[in-house]
Amino acid sequence: MVDAPEGYSGEGFFTTKLSDVVGLARKNSMWPLPFATSCCGIEFMATMASHYDLARFGSERVGFSPRQCDLLMVMGTIAKKMGPVLRQVYLQMAEPRWVIAVGACASSGGIFDSYSVLQGIDQIIPVDVYVPGCPPRPEAILDGFMKVQELVGQESIRRRNSEQYKALMNGYGIE
Ligand code: SF4
Repeated sequence: MVDAPEGYSGEGFFTTKLSDVVGLARKNSMWPLPFATSCCGIEFMATMASHYDLARFGSERVGFSPRQCDLLMVMGTIAKKMGPVLRQVYLQMAEPRWVIAVGACASSGGIFDSYSVLQGIDQIIPVDVYVPGCPPRPEAILDGFMKVQELVGQESIRRRNSEQYKALMNGYGIE
């Protein structure tokens, strides 16, 4: 069971904000798209397995079609050559969409301070939550996932049409 949003209740009725109801539904039914390129992907496999069980959060429906998913989980080293592919996957996801950078490599390039590795995926797509670690343990991935759930639950349904959000997208060259 999930907690009900704030609101007013009386005998036979409950009222709340539409934004809160939408947020409640969205945050408890996220469909992750795992974009795993290296070792952090193994930690994600453990996160999906029975011991840690991401399904407890309503997210057992992992998808590999960007058009059906709303949470891009980037796990692993992203080479500069891979950057345009990752960006294309992000662009193919419908709004609203969220992004987690899992581990040091996705967040900052990690130990690979080299000419060929992207020094953080936020150079090409906006990131909502960063999970530290090399690799992060499954608990840390779950913690990052719960942080995204918080953001999703609190997000106004108007945010994606706001000037600030358009400016953020324009900053990445996304219309
Ligand atoms: S952060 Fe560490 S464990 Fe994760 S992909 Fe990079 S090198 Fe591998």
